[in-house]
Amino acid sequence: MNSDQNAIAKIAQLIAESKQAIAFTGAGISTESGIADFRSPGGVWSRYQPVLFRDFLSSEDARRQYWKMKKEGYYELKMAKPNDGHRSLARLEAAGKLIAVITQNIDGLHQDAGSRHVLELHGTSRYCLCLDCEARFDPDEIQKRLEAGVEIPLCDHCGGLIKSATISFGQSLPADVLTEAFDLSLSTDLVLALGSSLVVEPAASIPLQAKNNGAKLVIINRTETPLDGLADVTVHQPIGATLSQVAKHLGY
Ligand SMILES: [Zn+2]
Repeated sequence: MNSDQNAIAKIAQLIAESKQAIAFTGAGISTESGIADFRSPGGVWSRYQPVLFRDFLSSEDARRQYWKMKKEGYYELKMAKPNDGHRSLARLEAAGKLIAVITQNIDGLHQDAGSRHVLELHGTSRYCLCLDCEARFDPDEIQKRLEAGVEIPLCDHCGGLIKSATISFGQSLPADVLTEAFDLSLSTDLVLALGSSLVVEPAASIPLQAKNNGAKLVIINRTETPLDGLADVTVHQPIGATLSQVAKHLGY
């Protein structure tokens, strides 16, 4: 057995022994579905400065820039399909071995894979929202407007600003989701931290808080993270391949 196989057997054992396991996922699980991490080169985010929420509210230029980026990134998100990592988590949940997925991703791929209890810390790209009257809009319909030449889509009902239901830089994380995520970090006995660099706060403190509270911690990420030294198992390999071997080991 090489060290990766040992790690897979150990992860399977920790999952088998746990009663309240949760997953914490970041961009790395979705890069395996072809969605560029906004921090990595080549992604739409590396070509533009992200628009801060306060600028979105106060500046027409910022709103124009925001929607230009959304328009450009639309098909990458739209066409992305869940991978073995997403599917393995959905399988674990269905088997009663995972109680929730807390994600930093906005792509909806966990739900597409069949996960039911998903906490989206950074919102979702699956709908747009009027910031004034909270009317919801289908992003496909907004994309059609953008492609027809509209630069800043406005609400049909009240004329207010429409924005993707994702959380922008400088915009508060949804309080109810954050509270539930932190509550889970105190009740869980095992955290699978997957594809997150574990540096973006306050999200990254969820696995740390769980670990400090006695939970086991498994980290699967391409690169090292600041919490590697605390983890019970660390794997620097692709998530999909690793998790499907873990699921197979468990018989799911
Ligand atoms: Zn409105």
